[in-house]
Amino acid sequence: MPIQKRIITTEKLKEDKEIETTLRPLSFDEYIGQESLKGNLKIYIEAAKRRNDVLDHCLFFGPPGLGKTTVAGIIANEMGADIKFTSGPAIEKQADMAAILCNLKPGTILFVDEIHRLSRQIEEFLYSAMEDFCIDTMIGKEGTTSAKSIRIPLPHFTLIGATTRAGMISEPLRDRFGIIENLKYYDSSELQKIVMRSSKVLNVEIDEEGAYEIARRSRGTPRLANRLLKRVRDVAMVLYDGNITFEAANKAIDMLGIDPLGLDNVDNKLLDAMINRFGGRPVGIDALATTIGEDPGTIEDMYEPYLVQTGLILRTPRGRIPSETAYHHLGISQN
Ligand code: ADP
Repeated sequence: MPIQKRIITTEKLKEDKEIETTLRPLSFDEYIGQESLKGNLKIYIEAAKRRNDVLDHCLFFGPPGLGKTTVAGIIANEMGADIKFTSGPAIEKQADMAAILCNLKPGTILFVDEIHRLSRQIEEFLYSAMEDFCIDTMIGKEGTTSAKSIRIPLPHFTLIGATTRAGMISEPLRDRFGIIENLKYYDSSELQKIVMRSSKVLNVEIDEEGAYEIARRSRGTPRLANRLLKRVRDVAMVLYDGNITFEAANKAIDMLGIDPLGLDNVDNKLLDAMINRFGGRPVGIDALATTIGEDPGTIEDMYEPYLVQTGLILRTPRGRIPSETAYHHLGISQN
């Protein structure tokens, strides 16, 4: 995989695991931005604590790397609760889900990443767990007279689901979440604060201009800002005096093939295909993905949302079209 793509993608990479654990904020005070989400959650948490109850089930949606997992960890800290992490694709059978649920302790937070990838059958199995804190399961061999359904009570727990695809959550599942919050892209000054904080944790010298340059070119995404910070740190160490300044940040990010708007080669290939191959006419995700040789899901989750947010792509009922800014960005005149 080319280096540019590995760096810019907001998908979680192996190397993120370690660094994300170190940099992950543990309290709302350290969690920068997402003010409305924080404000709401603080109230719900306080209310649940006063009632001596668990927090309602939460659904967090938004593009990858915006802080959904981090918020779940903060909720667990604030509630003084244990947290168990799993993900939609990891739960293949009903028995897997039953085992997880039956082993929860009272008050535990169960975090299910990519919850939209749970099978319909497992999703339906979750309904009674979420609503009535019990599950109905079969004992004995199915189809025999000894087979019967029994109801197992569960401790009260909070399910936190995270998804990049809110539209793929079925309505019955969505209805069982009492708290539904959308995580938004961060603005550059919020990301600058995140970069300054991460630099402090990593013991890296950085000035405000250097942090702003990293922030500005991180596609509104903290995961990416932290990843860029690591790469810029290397360049600053080898080519400069170790301090991250505007010059060092700018040089390092250019070297990664990220353009002044923070777009990488896949973003630019996408815009180029929309303009040069499809002539600016409305186009669907599948056709676009085939043209540039990418997976449609990757484009929909990781690339398109930011291009729409920045107004480079416009969504119309007939498909996506490139905006005037996109033509301008690629230096192509629109006639
Ligand atoms: P998601 O679950 O949405 O993919 P994560 O919660 O894993 O994203 O966040 C990715 C990384 O970005 C985390 O390690 C964390 O360090 C950082 N991060 C995310 N949101 C914030 C925030 N609001 N303030 C500071 N750092 C953040």
